[in-house]
Amino acid sequence: MNPEILKYQIGDIDTHLHTKHSCDSKMEPAAACRRAMELGLKALVFTEHVDFDPTDQGYGVYDDRAIESSLADCRVMAGRHLKIYKGVEITYQPQYRDQIEKFINSYKFDFVMGSVHMVGTDDVSWPELAKKYFGRMEEEQAYGAYFQEALKLADSRLFDCLGHLDLCKKYGFKHYGAMSWQKYQKPIKKILERAVQRDLMVEINTSGLRHDPQESYPGLPAVMEYLKMGGARLTLGSDAHQAEHIAHGFTDILTKIPELKGLNKK
Ligand SMILES: [Zn+2]
Ligand SMILES: [Zn+2]
Repeated sequence: MNPEILKYQIGDIDTHLHTKHSCDSKMEPAAACRRAMELGLKALVFTEHVDFDPTDQGYGVYDDRAIESSLADCRVMAGRHLKIYKGVEITYQPQYRDQIEKFINSYKFDFVMGSVHMVGTDDVSWPELAKKYFGRMEEEQAYGAYFQEALKLADSRLFDCLGHLDLCKKYGFKHYGAMSWQKYQKPIKKILERAVQRDLMVEINTSGLRHDPQESYPGLPAVMEYLKMGGARLTLGSDAHQAEHIAHGFTDILTKIPELKGLNKK
């Protein structure tokens, strides 16, 4: 990770967004920058998708040269008003570990985020495909398997940041209702402990506030637990796919957990 990213106060930087360089967004990078400047953010990290499963709709889409060129234009436009970093969001699947490692070493990134979107061959991040996964099993099994993948991600030592720790609740919500912290605190705490041990940053992804669960990924009890463990590497990511979602929900989270503001991320 570019050490500069650790120096921003939480909320001054949005470390998760997708533009037209990702398969699921049409946002112009310049539009993201304009919005960030309007909001008074100090920095943005562009995290386009990279997927290694050939069945994934994002497979083969990543175009490093096009991204570099867009970000260079953005830096000219933003000048000193907004710092722009090049990150990436990689779908972690243990079976592609070697390819992922090679990919990370092939390009220059300021920030490498790993996220679980797939459990085995099931995509849990895409509505129609998620329905197949959640529709055929009980909640405990579905969420348990997701958290196992997230734990493997934390143990992989490939990433700077763990994206949306409990994204499984995004579409799981439709099948099982709200995720209970009581019920899943054990696997979630295990992942957070591992993150603390490995200096792996944990993202508070605010897109969940715009989705059915109406809470961040992970939820606030998990964030409080992480702070209690002495963890300090937290970041806010909006997962914006359109400009109006940049930094969405940041004020809400910072109001609910004011101690985040004084966090020293070293
Ligand atoms: Zn994601
Ligand atoms: Zn994302």
